[in-house]
Amino acid sequence: MLHYGNQVKVSMDLYALDEEVDVLKTKLTLSDNETRLSHLIELAWHLRQRDCQLALELVSEARALLAHISRGSRDYKRLLARTNLIKAEIHWLFGELELAKRDATIAFTNLEEIQDSHGLGDVYFLFSSIHRDLGEIQQRDQCLQTSIEHYQIAGELLGYQIAFARSLHNSAIRAPQITATELDRQFAVDHSYPVPVTAWLSSARAIIANKIGDLGESCRLHIEAHRAALESGQIRLAILAATNAGDSFATLGDLDAALEWDEIALAIARANQWPGSLAIALLQTGNALRLLGHHEDARETLIESLSIQSKIPGSRTFAHTLAYLGDLSLDLGTPVDALNFFELAAEKIEAHDEAVFLSDCWRGQAIAFCRLDQLHEAEDKIRQALCIAREHHNVDEQIKCLRVYAELARKYPALDNSSLSIENNMPNLSLHYQLEALALCQSIKGICIPADLLDSIADDFALIEDYQSAFQFSRLAAKAKENRRLSEAHNRATAMQVRYDNERHRADAEYHRLIATTEAERAASLQEASNTLETLGLIGRELTANLNVESVFEALYRHVDDLLDASSFGISLLAPDGATLRFVFGIENGAPIPFFETALDHPISSFARCARERQEIVLEREPGATGRFIVPGTMETLSLLYTPLMIGDRLLGVMSIQSIRPHVYGERERSILRTLAAYGAIALDNASAYKQLQATLTALRETQNQLEEVSITDPLTGLRNRRFLLQNIEGDVARALRAYEDQLVDPTDNFSQLSDDDLVFFMVDLDHFKSVNDTYGHACGDMVLMQMRDRLQSVFRESDYLVRWGGEEFLVVARNCNRKDAPTVAERIRHIVSSTAFTLLDDLEIFRTCSVGYASYPFLPKQPHLVTWAQVVNFADQGLYMVKKSGRNACIGIAHTDQHQVDDFYNRVMRHPQQAAQSQLIQIISHNTDDLDEAIRAS
Ligand code: GH3
Ligand code: MG
Ligand code: MG
Repeated sequence: MLHYGNQVKVSMDLYALDEEVDVLKTKLTLSDNETRLSHLIELAWHLRQRDCQLALELVSEARALLAHISRGSRDYKRLLARTNLIKAEIHWLFGELELAKRDATIAFTNLEEIQDSHGLGDVYFLFSSIHRDLGEIQQRDQCLQTSIEHYQIAGELLGYQIAFARSLHNSAIRAPQITATELDRQFAVDHSYPVPVTAWLSSARAIIANKIGDLGESCRLHIEAHRAALESGQIRLAILAATNAGDSFATLGDLDAALEWDEIALAIARANQWPGSLAIALLQTGNALRLLGHHEDARETLIESLSIQSKIPGSRTFAHTLAYLGDLSLDLGTPVDALNFFELAAEKIEAHDEAVFLSDCWRGQAIAFCRLDQLHEAEDKIRQALCIAREHHNVDEQIKCLRVYAELARKYPALDNSSLSIENNMPNLSLHYQLEALALCQSIKGICIPADLLDSIADDFALIEDYQSAFQFSRLAAKAKENRRLSEAHNRATAMQVRYDNERHRADAEYHRLIATTEAERAASLQEASNTLETLGLIGRELTANLNVESVFEALYRHVDDLLDASSFGISLLAPDGATLRFVFGIENGAPIPFFETALDHPISSFARCARERQEIVLEREPGATGRFIVPGTMETLSLLYTPLMIGDRLLGVMSIQSIRPHVYGERERSILRTLAAYGAIALDNASAYKQLQATLTALRETQNQLEEVSITDPLTGLRNRRFLLQNIEGDVARALRAYEDQLVDPTDNFSQLSDDDLVFFMVDLDHFKSVNDTYGHACGDMVLMQMRDRLQSVFRESDYLVRWGGEEFLVVARNCNRKDAPTVAERIRHIVSSTAFTLLDDLEIFRTCSVGYASYPFLPKQPHLVTWAQVVNFADQGLYMVKKSGRNACIGIAHTDQHQVDDFYNRVMRHPQQAAQSQLIQIISHNTDDLDEAIRAS
């Protein structure tokens, strides 16, 4: 389960620069679980136009991580919306407008729920693009306006400026003059705006420059827009700007430059396969080819553009393509086609509210009708076209219309002109229209009057035999041609200048990019090296801290898998015989590789060779290469890397990583594996040394245990010895003391009920044992001692301590015993010894007796600390001594009385037990053996 901070930090500028995207890429590679999600989405967002495929891959990884965030949370909605927005924009680029709408709407819903104005600004910005391609111009403008408002609410300046600049770009086509004023008002010319804003501003200015006839400036600005768009990841705008530059160059007459820019646009559009962009690039290329007179190429290109737009037939480009095909058809002398194309174009363009372009289409239709001899239709169309041109004060279009009128009049001298508002008292109607056109031409400042118009006027004058005028106009035409040549030369110079500037800019940019890239690469590799070092340091510590061979293998595999491209990983260790490699650990695609052995002198095994040469081996294989050794049951890998595992010059084995991809192990990978191998070797050596140490330690511990057991065991009987008692008695003593202390605390308890917390010490001595040795030999004596052990064991519990105290003397400690049972137990010992015969060699049986003295600990229940356990043992011994003195084969217990005890208690008891008994210091329990015999039999 991944954990994320409360707030997932994602900064989402509308567009970012290439260098910022590079930083994001680095960030992503360095990201940890916590930051990965935000970095994924941020990078995907900025790659949405730069690399759609990668952006979508990042989005799907991000989606998987999103599953770990609470669904209802603000972060979840914001991030989810962003992934939908990325997908929507990519759909839009690919002309999948309905899908784009769907995903953008999902994003919208989530963002609206959390009132994310910045995000909503982005959504509307995209909606505007979608509507544009749908040919829904009103919605396009509305959405852009809403986008601007949202950015304003969010205080998102960059988005606001971009959207605003884009709205000016849109209006520049329809209303260049007003837009120019607005542009200057909103964006200071000498101020430098962020690159993504500049892209739209320059584009808007370029369109205006084109409309007002400043074509050189238009070219320059379009190129500037193209560069800024490219750098800020607005690839679609970059393509558009390049085609516009091509268009301006074409108008300028530099068809080479025009084609060059069309090529640039085409190359980017083709690489991305975005229909909208591809179509517009093809459209401009087709137009340039038409102007160059390559009619067939032009036709093919335009038809391709049309077919690509089948998904987006509502767009403005579609209408333009149709109109260009109309122009081309007129050039090709196929007026039926032309008519068809112009009609379709006019139908499409109506939605776009581009009146002048509509006039263009109608004029085209008029020419086509004229050439088809459909006089009335022609006249009708040209009248409407002229009407629009006049309404919109578009002088250029009016001139063109008037010239079509002239053509009509020439063809049909009887043309009814009553519908025209111009007065006609001229004998030659064609001349009249042409002069009208000329007058309009002269009203435009700085325009070159078309020489063919002047020529045509001269012809018309000649027709009505006004040779003086005809001559005048012929001269004017010649002058116009001269002027046009000059103007063309000027244009060419301008175009050359623009091209030259562009080349220089490109070279400069290339140089700076090179420097920046080198710098960035150096910084990145430094960063990477330092990160890798740090990582390896940590890995080293982890590995060498590992003392288990299997865990070392596992850890090595885990780290190799993290750091390197390794489809398979394996370790072979040199067997103790020094002649065999044993493949002890291997994983391929997550599954273990089975164990196998290789001889060290194997002729083709690279494991063997690496081990023999003790040197790293890097291999590159061709797929299906023969003569190579492939570990049975493993894949055929193409990149192989083997590194020896060495400690000093001692070879431990070989570690190998392999990949199914070719050429994956460069210097970096090799040095990482080398480092891992060095740590791995130390770790493995440590682990095996540790294993040996463990084995030695276990053996030592075993020996020690045995020794210890021996040291506390009596060798003849296997019973415990004094040493054992000394080692173990303290715990029992403490326990007994605690129990009595607890009873002392309770004032109601008068020790009426003595509990099972006593330790009773029985001292047992065989009577006249010496005589056994003397009579039957020492071995028989031993046999008696061993049988004594069995009899004692039968009387006592396993938890009691049976100690061989001296030669034929035994001390038994009955634990958790009640002292009132002591006489019975003592008597049971005495009885079990005397009542049964001991078996000697040759099945000889003898009867023996024993004497028992005993005493309990704590000796004085009310003063449990007064007499130590060792003193109690001595009391038991005292009891035994008393039995011996009084004739043997009996038991005497030394016990406390209820009298409060006095100073020097112990010594008084030891020195004169009888006196002590008389003065009630102790009681001597010397029971009547017969009574007890009865008791034992009964029990
Ligand atoms: P008492 O009734 O007064 O205890 O007389 P006793 O003969 O049992 O006592 P004494 O102390 O005089 O003799 C103990 C004998 O036990 C002396 C020694 O030879 C014998 N003895 C001690 N250890 C061993 C042993 O491990 N094996 C054999 N067979 N005899 C032992
Ligand atoms: Mg004895
Ligand atoms: Mg003895």
